[in-house]
Amino acid sequence: MKVSTLVEERRLARTTLPIMEAFHTIQGEGYHTGTPAYFIRTGGCDVGCHWCDVKESWDSSKHPETDIAQLIANARACESPLVVITGGEPMMYDMAPLTTGLRENGLNVHLETSGAYELTGDWDWICFSPKKFKAPLQEYYERSHELKVIIYNRSDFQWAQDHAFKMHADAKLFLQPEWSKADEVMPLIVQFVKENPVWRISLQTHKFLNIP
Ligand code: SF4
Repeated sequence: MKVSTLVEERRLARTTLPIMEAFHTIQGEGYHTGTPAYFIRTGGCDVGCHWCDVKESWDSSKHPETDIAQLIANARACESPLVVITGGEPMMYDMAPLTTGLRENGLNVHLETSGAYELTGDWDWICFSPKKFKAPLQEYYERSHELKVIIYNRSDFQWAQDHAFKMHADAKLFLQPEWSKADEVMPLIVQFVKENPVWRISLQTHKFLNIP
């Protein structure tokens, strides 16, 4: 089956989603760093970042189709006011049923996405993290609250600036070192942010804390 056909089929109105894991932890990255949150990680991603730290998420068939009503009940039971939906790439699916249900239950719902697929769902916060390996869609520059660019090498700074110029004026801008290259690129990021103070540094603090 062609990839486009497969994605269209996956995005039909759904009562289940392939879920890799769901867990209560601390948001380790970006604008909401340090906030307790219930994370829901969808299975399935075809963006193909070579440094991806969740490659086990890529094959959606390896993750159980999980009832959306059950996901909402589990999030409620966790009693965290914040739910973060990440992946994999959540936008490969129609997120409206899950996000509407979560918000109807009084939960704040945040998204982490590469922006490679049309935006669906109802969100309190969108963290847009574009990748070189699959071009993002224009709507994310206008609708995201936060741009988070992963820095793997020197050329990524200009790439980050190119994306920042397309964002709306209120967007928060973050640079985050790719974990395996942090020792090498962190001094460059510090210097860059000192010279370009519109940017902030995001660290994967959950990895330093050794929590999920
Ligand atoms: Fe991994 Fe995210 Fe890249 Fe997909 S978009 S390959 S999940 S880092």
